[in-house]
Parts: sequence; structure tokens; C-alpha cells
Amino acid sequence: MTTTPRSLKIATSAALVAVMMSIAPVTEAAVNLVSLQQEWQMREQLHSQVAAEHRVSEDRFLSALGQRIVSQTELGNMPWSFFVVHDSSANAFNLPGGLVYVNSGLIAEAESLDQLAGVLAHEIAHGTERHGTQLMTRSYGYGLLANLLLGKDPGQAKQLVAQLVGTGILTDYSRDAERTADRLGVAYMVRSGYNPQGMVDFFGKLLDMRQRRPSKVQQFFSSHPMTEERVRNIQGEIARQPSRRLTHDTRDYQLFRSRYR
Ligand code: ZN
Repeated sequence: MTTTPRSLKIATSAALVAVMMSIAPVTEAAVNLVSLQQEWQMREQLHSQVAAEHRVSEDRFLSALGQRIVSQTELGNMPWSFFVVHDSSANAFNLPGGLVYVNSGLIAEAESLDQLAGVLAHEIAHGTERHGTQLMTRSYGYGLLANLLLGKDPGQAKQLVAQLVGTGILTDYSRDAERTADRLGVAYMVRSGYNPQGMVDFFGKLLDMRQRRPSKVQQFFSSHPMTEERVRNIQGEIARQPSRRLTHDTRDYQLFRSRYR
């Protein structure tokens, strides 16, 4: 019977730990080869593509609400933009570079200010976590991304942007990404003064709509995997927040909403 000297065993396990530590970050979903600055350079191109495919407009009420939530995040010093997409399905999405889109159909369904703030906070959290450029990194790797970001081939870049926006690669979120966006979204809501119960109520409503009017929420559910368990987890997250007096609804919100009903 041979025995391995103790010192060798220790050296071997230390080497193994070192190897595992160097591998660990690669196996994580959070690899992002796009810098924050590069990400924000893409926003014009991405937005042009959305505007080519949908009728979009800015609304002062939506922008003010979005900016108020963004100011409570770690990317509050970056420029963000909020747009209404004139489309009757209940959908909202975030694209890289601080772009947040909310369908008029979703605004019509959000019964109170805190419900809309809940959707915005969730989308903003996808943005601060940079889930879109993580997905971009995973799908395309560095070679193609470098071409896109450095604008070496404008034709190819335009084609890639069309593909990124059109196929929904940038919003194909994992359940983990959803959990993170919910958790951060709740914290952002409390910090900016909105009642996070609105997020629970609205996601509950969307789940209910999935039974009664599935086509209306199909897009939202395809990009944001949602379950009853997720809604329960949000409720748990709310219980961990400090109790504060928080805004549930305002008359201004109902005026804003009436423009999209
Ligand atoms: Zn989501």
C-alpha cells in the first residue's frame, strides 16, 4: 500500500483550489466583455432600431418617474431614457445603455402609480445589473462584439443591432436574472419612495391575465420568466425592507394613465 506524503496532499489540494477559483468566474453567467462606456455608446443605435420597428414617444410623466428611481441606483449618474411604445400588449423591456420601454397597453393595465413604478424598477434593475450586455457577450463572444463596438464594419454592425433587437436575444433573461431584478427593484422602490407592494400586485395581475388573455401578456412572459413562487419571493423581500410611508397612487398618475387607455 502506498501512502501519499501529507505535504504533497496539501500542495495538490491547494493547486486544485487555485484552478477552481480561476475557473469559477467563467462558469458564472455574469461574464460581461462590454465596458460600461461601450454599453452607453450603443444606445443610439439600439434605440434607432426600436424606433424603426415601433411607434415610440417620450412622456414627461414617465421620464420623471423613471429618473426618480434611477437616481437611487449605482448608475444614477449615467443618462437613461424612458419611452412609451404604442402597442396594446402589456409589455416592458430594457435595452443596454439605460433604455427602458413601456407599452401603452401595460400603462393602461397598471391601476396605480406603485404598480407602474414596480415594472420600471424591475426593468431598471435589469439595466443596472447589465443583463443585456451579459446576454450579448454569451451569444456573440468577443470577435463580433469588437467589430460592433468599434464600428469597423458599419454594415455588419447595423445588421447585428437589427438581429439583437429583433430576436429578443438581449431580453432572454434567466430565472436568476429575474430574481435579482425583483430583489433590487424592491430596494429601488423603497429608496425612491414607492410602495413595493405595487410590484407584487401588478405581477399577480399579469399572472391572472395569462389565464384569461394570454396573447396580451405573451411577450412579457417570454422575456421575463414568471411564476407564483417569484411573486411570493418578492413578498418576502418586501418584509425585509425598513418600514416607511410610501406612495401608492396619485391623481397625476391617473391623468397620465388616461392618455393611454
Ligand atoms: Zn425581468
